[in-house]
Amino acid sequence: MHAPQPALSFPRDVPPAPGVVSEIAPGIMWFRLALPFLLDHVNIYLIEDQKGWTLIDTGLGDGATERAWEQLLEGALKAHPITRIIVTHFHPDHVGSAGWLLKRFDVPLYMSATEYLMSLNMHLDPGALEAEHYRKFYRNHGLDPVTTQNVVTKGHEYLRIVSGLPKTYRRLVAGDLLNIGGRQFEVLTGGGHSPEQIMLFGRADKIFFAADQVLAKITPNVSVAAVDPEGDPLGIYLRSLRALKEMIGEDVLVLPGHQMPFRGLGTRASQLERHHLLRCEAIARACRTAPRSAAELIPHIFERALDAHQMGFAFSEVLAHVNYMLRRGELSAVIGADGVERVMA
Ligand SMILES: [Zn+2]
Ligand SMILES: [Zn+2]
Repeated sequence: MHAPQPALSFPRDVPPAPGVVSEIAPGIMWFRLALPFLLDHVNIYLIEDQKGWTLIDTGLGDGATERAWEQLLEGALKAHPITRIIVTHFHPDHVGSAGWLLKRFDVPLYMSATEYLMSLNMHLDPGALEAEHYRKFYRNHGLDPVTTQNVVTKGHEYLRIVSGLPKTYRRLVAGDLLNIGGRQFEVLTGGGHSPEQIMLFGRADKIFFAADQVLAKITPNVSVAAVDPEGDPLGIYLRSLRALKEMIGEDVLVLPGHQMPFRGLGTRASQLERHHLLRCEAIARACRTAPRSAAELIPHIFERALDAHQMGFAFSEVLAHVNYMLRRGELSAVIGADGVERVMA
């Protein structure tokens, strides 16, 4: 039995309308940029900095986002310049417009080393997204050739929607202190959703920029990467949630990368932990009757039909649970005559 958990609280009922910049906390502005996906927006934040604004995240690197930025820079953001750009992680909805913005503003880019290098690598070598190691990754875990082809082409398309990165950046490391406009922010990093995602904690102001690590309603994607096929992003993610619960009080305003700002981080982190443990239970149930590959487990976890973009996420997310359970000895793996790895409970 689980004790009933307190509900999250939301300081706003509705998000800012497109093109509107709204003050979500003293000296902290919030607006949204559109995304052409099911997840239709990304949250962008500005922190008042001496002469202007520190920008957190940049939106996708596509023409629609550039046009939205041009309107903002000529309108709501005209009076004060951007003084620096912090990018939380390498996903194109966050890093995408960084290169475009940095051509206009000669300001430093702050990222963690892993996220900077991941993004740079992907931008410099986009062909790798269709390379053999990706195909092998999907094939070894039972995805059929047609779906695999769709995932590595159409499914990976969004990873290319970036405008590049400058040749130099400023490295952020967990434990750094950033002074922004006289306020102190502690730099936290967390893995699982991306390798070394940056979060900022304004302890005195009770404000936490959570990036995509903790979202109010949807579960952040936790995926195994083809470059590290036996990796354990779910274990890393669960450890990060536990660390955040220790550090961030329930009264802290959480400013996430998507959806609405909220209070109640510990409550939400516990819900997310439970969600993943329930998925592990569903996988264990399915693998008691027959050995199954990650691809064969997808319909046991995701009931709805999936397009190529969603299929890539679903596959890698199921594999994250499988790898986590393998490491804990809750599953064991067998390689079939067809070369596909299947797991049994
Ligand atoms: Zn993300
Ligand atoms: Zn995101």
